Amino acid sequence: MTQTVASPRVQLIAPISGILVPIELVPDPVFAKKMVGDGLSIDPLSDVLVAPIDGEVINVQPAMHAVTIRSADGLEVLLHIGLDTVRMGGKGFQAKVRQGQQVRVGEELIAFDMDTVAEEALSLLTQVVVTNSDAVSNLVAMTGTVVAGRDVVAEITLAEAGDDSGPIRRGRTVRSDAILIPNPTGLHARPAATLVALAKKFDSEVTLRRGDDTANAKSIMSIMSLSAERGDKVFVSAHGPDAEQAVTEVAEAIRNGLGEEVTPLTEAEVAEVEAEPAAEEVAVPVSGDPNLLLGVAASPGLAVGQVVQLRHEDIGVAEFAPDKHLERRKLNTAIDRALLDLSALQGRLEKEADPENAAIFAAHAEILQDPDLLDIASSAIEKGNSAPFAWRGAYQTYAERLSRLKNEILAGRANDVRDVGQRVLEELTGHRREKPELPENTILIAEDLTPSDTATLDRRRVVGFATTSGGASSHVAIIARSLDIPAVAGIEGRALGIAEGTRVVLDGGRGSLQLNLTDDQIDAIVERQRRIAAKRVRDLERAGEPAITSDGHQVQVVANIGNLADAQQAMTVGAEGVGLLRSEFVFLGRQSAPSEDEQAELYADIAGALRPGQPLVIRTLDVGGDKPLPYLPIPAEENPFLGIRGVRVGFDRPEVLRTQCRAIIRAADAGAELYVMFPMIATIDDWRFAKQIWDAEVAALGSGGDVKVGIMMEVPSVGVMANQFAAEDVAFFSVGTNDLTSYTLAMDRGHPKLAAQVDPCNPSVLQLIGQAGQALHAAGKWLGVCGSIASDPQAVPILLGLGVDELSCSIPAIPAVKAAVRSYSLDQCRRLAAKAVACSTPAEVRALVPVDEG
Ligand code: PEP
Ligand code: MG
Repeated sequence: MTQTVASPRVQLIAPISGILVPIELVPDPVFAKKMVGDGLSIDPLSDVLVAPIDGEVINVQPAMHAVTIRSADGLEVLLHIGLDTVRMGGKGFQAKVRQGQQVRVGEELIAFDMDTVAEEALSLLTQVVVTNSDAVSNLVAMTGTVVAGRDVVAEITLAEAGDDSGPIRRGRTVRSDAILIPNPTGLHARPAATLVALAKKFDSEVTLRRGDDTANAKSIMSIMSLSAERGDKVFVSAHGPDAEQAVTEVAEAIRNGLGEEVTPLTEAEVAEVEAEPAAEEVAVPVSGDPNLLLGVAASPGLAVGQVVQLRHEDIGVAEFAPDKHLERRKLNTAIDRALLDLSALQGRLEKEADPENAAIFAAHAEILQDPDLLDIASSAIEKGNSAPFAWRGAYQTYAERLSRLKNEILAGRANDVRDVGQRVLEELTGHRREKPELPENTILIAEDLTPSDTATLDRRRVVGFATTSGGASSHVAIIARSLDIPAVAGIEGRALGIAEGTRVVLDGGRGSLQLNLTDDQIDAIVERQRRIAAKRVRDLERAGEPAITSDGHQVQVVANIGNLADAQQAMTVGAEGVGLLRSEFVFLGRQSAPSEDEQAELYADIAGALRPGQPLVIRTLDVGGDKPLPYLPIPAEENPFLGIRGVRVGFDRPEVLRTQCRAIIRAADAGAELYVMFPMIATIDDWRFAKQIWDAEVAALGSGGDVKVGIMMEVPSVGVMANQFAAEDVAFFSVGTNDLTSYTLAMDRGHPKLAAQVDPCNPSVLQLIGQAGQALHAAGKWLGVCGSIASDPQAVPILLGLGVDELSCSIPAIPAVKAAVRSYSLDQCRRLAAKAVACSTPAEVRALVPVDEG
């Protein structure tokens, strides 16, 4: 008896309202000839594209005119608004989702301005195309008029899962020379489709590479994900029987524009590409001195010690296994064991009052429950891979995806995925990483250290570490700072070649590693370390006393915090309250926004952790552009630092700001004296609008009238117009010098080449602070500083002289900042400030104040 099994069917729901048009009638051969794939077109009557299927957004084109969704069945559906819209470069389009986001049918993907698209594009016809035709055995497109999110536009019968191991390809690998993409808008859908059609003619595997990213030249999605732009350098390679022919023809076609009209790259464009160093060369400074290696300052402090190189071994695993049920069980058991381990580790760290690191391992546990990651592993097991092979592939793919993101914070999480992935792999294989025997005063050097490595370091022996990867905001750096171990990230690669046992000096504050020092030089450094340590002890002993200048002027020294644990810790080192609660930490690392109740409870808990009556300044949500929240999509922007960030997100999403205001108001009588401030205020209208929202919520709740409301001064316009801002119904300013310096100098504070110049002691920034001090004092109001300059003891007397009333510092800096206040008279401070604002450079300013190392 034979049994027939019906193939699974899938329905595509209308992504836009309009009239259905057969794909063959679209006036663009790439779509009409189904070079991108089979599907349909819609003449739109609405201006928001919504998801036609549940799934993951796997690609949002940089010009925001097209998006691709992959369903759980593996179907990849490309939605392409209009024809030739890539040329509009994003004008008139607003992406509502980001790559990697899960969406459900009917959820908004892209909003667009119909008039602009109608005027500038070839056509408004919007294509809905299945790009992986291998997954489809039949597609029936409907006809008529449809309503977005409601009506079916196509019935799809999925192909039976067959043997997809593919033909065995014999032959050799051939690679092309570098090719510069000549297409004006890069490899978007149309040239990508032409490329795929050509590559599919060959039996060989054909790959396109750009930098470290590779794409399967037979997959349109894969090519579009490369986001190759005009002038980008790519290589074609092929492996198989007709590799030579494939590379010759594909490379030639790319050079000729893949059917698009192209103009040759100008000499200037070529020169620009040639001059552009590879990504890693940009990020890593190189000293040029054979005895000095440079990197990024990851955790401050000086360490003298001997080098130990730490290498991670690769664990060998078998590729295939016969019983997929068994493999699935093995993987589940390994994940469960790893979860138990993580929870034990987390518990231990919590007991050791190390909540920051405990939170990192809690995040690792969340990664292990991520459905995407588990899906990738399960589908590999389904295809016959062994559990370790499937798992390794899954976490490496996942980490790779994260590391490619432009957002430094998310990219830094790739290391966490590798770490927790390795933990499960060890469970699966029984292969444990060896812990090396470490000598006294070890300085570890590694390509990368995982959070697990750092958390289990023998702290009595390791005095510092340097990694060739990672940045200042990686978890490794965070852990190093919390362990108080000096560390340098992104150090020059030659560090890996330093012989074990070599004596070196690692400067975590400067981001350097020094070799071949004489004994006298090392002795001097050790003596300096001793002096600095002794001063730290003295400062800490007096941390509980107020910060009063020698002539009796008291300054409030408070803490910058991100959570309740920080508040508790700040109380132990002499903080007189909180000058900046970065409330975005309450919103980060979650799948949905915290509710009003959750926020109110947390703000009240933090207020309760302070001494009664101490100030608690809550900054409203400061995200946007560079700091994304998965549940609060902000369209990709060309200049995120000049775009929708800070309070502008609140104006864009008033319900988020209003909820937060209500939560703050509800925490008003939890013990602290409550203040609220808005980030990124740039204009008087910004301020009035924010204040109006606040006042409305106060009126609605009938409480919170005693909460003082202030401005975070991060945009130079506030300093320039300090008199006008001070005349408003505002209680105080708190200067965010991190952003203020960036915006004053027009330099990105995270830019690898410019960051060193972004010094808040620049006289231009000091002048703005001085102006704000005068304006506020004349109006009977106060001035605080919460940017990093407040934690710099050298800058403290200048700030006091400029009229700063409150210094909000990083927690470890509090004792030294208080000591700095005590070592000057206000008179001296005023004289120093007068000189500082007249200086020409930050170096001249710093030369006015000797560094007190004890
Ligand atoms: C600042 O800009 O100085 C500031 C304190 O805000 P953040 O560093 O959180 O942007
Ligand atoms: Mg800021």
